[in-house]
Amino acid sequence: MEENVKSDLKKIFGFSQFRGNQELIVDNLLKQRNTFVIMPTGAGKSLCYQLPAVVKEGTAIVISPLIALMKNQVDQLNAIGINAHFLNSTLTKSEATKVKNEVLKKRTKLLYVAPESLTKEENIAFLKEAQLSFVAIDEAHCISEWGHDFRPEYRKIKSIVGQIAPHLPIIALTATATPKVQQDIQRNLQMEEADLFKSSFNRTNLFYEVRPKVKNESKKALIKFIKQHKGKSGIIYCLSRKKVEEIAELLKVNQINAAPYHAGLDSSVRIKTQDDFLNEELDVIVATIAFGMGIDKPDVRYVIHYDVPKSLEGYYQETGRAGRDGLEGHCLMFYRYEDIIKLDKFNKDKAVTERENAKILLQEMSAYAETGVCRRKFILNYFGETLEEDCGFCDNCKRERVTFEGMDDVTTALEA
Ligand code: ADP
Ligand code: MG
Repeated sequence: MEENVKSDLKKIFGFSQFRGNQELIVDNLLKQRNTFVIMPTGAGKSLCYQLPAVVKEGTAIVISPLIALMKNQVDQLNAIGINAHFLNSTLTKSEATKVKNEVLKKRTKLLYVAPESLTKEENIAFLKEAQLSFVAIDEAHCISEWGHDFRPEYRKIKSIVGQIAPHLPIIALTATATPKVQQDIQRNLQMEEADLFKSSFNRTNLFYEVRPKVKNESKKALIKFIKQHKGKSGIIYCLSRKKVEEIAELLKVNQINAAPYHAGLDSSVRIKTQDDFLNEELDVIVATIAFGMGIDKPDVRYVIHYDVPKSLEGYYQETGRAGRDGLEGHCLMFYRYEDIIKLDKFNKDKAVTERENAKILLQEMSAYAETGVCRRKFILNYFGETLEEDCGFCDNCKRERVTFEGMDDVTTALEA
């Protein structure tokens, strides 16, 4: 790798070293090669395209599924002096024109685009005029119906990029590793020949715990847990908007600095809640899964699932938002089998195969919740990885150790 790339890592991004595969990935993209990156949440995927975008001539297009996510990244880039913009439905006509002018003047290093904006004729015409460096497709699992956030617009990306500039290198990034999703993405992007960089999914700093969900007791336990983490940032996931409102209210009356977040709220309210959370003015966000994808708050100390998620994959993604700074994160789930049955019933109007697929995902989820084995082993196994030894850092491992210590005592007592 060229020295100036390394010095930009330090000078611009303030990092003294690359993490994991970052260096290889940056290098690969700089060589104009199609690149496929599978790296867990929090591992540092953004840098894999942000650094090359800064180094290369022209503008990199970054396709990103959520408006909140684009804003978050563009704000961060601007804060470190990188010229980045986004193009999405929140911009007025004159704002959009301004952004386009910046790009045409070759000032913009990164242009974040929602897939819905990319498909617009006027934007295709504009991008044909621009000098582009490469295309990054973030959260690429949105391409796959097997993924947890399927977005139909994502399936059109390849053909539109083909219209704009067929030979631009593409980097696709996702934290989703199940082989099925991976295949789907590569096929759709016609990237079977791309260089694959896949890293381990073990998040060693996350502690996994499952507790039984018992009506009022769980609410008390929830409040107690949060109070034990006073002043720390946390996310509570609930299944429905109604439940989100209810739990947020419960926390507030218990003097916890919490706010609700779901798709039913006004976008201005959602943006404010998210900003407050990022700026430490809000400790706890109670949310549906509408919150969190790609949100970069490094010091989230806990993620609690008050309701069971629809898949282990989703669970892994959501808990992955804890401990991004590498310090400890606590992942707690409240579980009862009735919630699995309830989720299955929600799917009753779906097509047969779709419902069957959803059921399989739910069964895996409940198997995780009910397992007595090391939870990390269980999760990694799901992603096709093997962990040789028990992790020692989940509720099941801790429990086992307690029993063993107890046994030791018994033996000693007998021997004495
Ligand atoms: P991902 O998209 O993979 O979930 P992000 O790109 O949001 O992860 O990065 C997660 C965190 O890691 C961010 O706070 C980012 O600043 C930090 N980070 C990324 N690369 C490095 C590095 N080389 N050294 C230190 N911190 C890094
Ligand atoms: Mg990301």
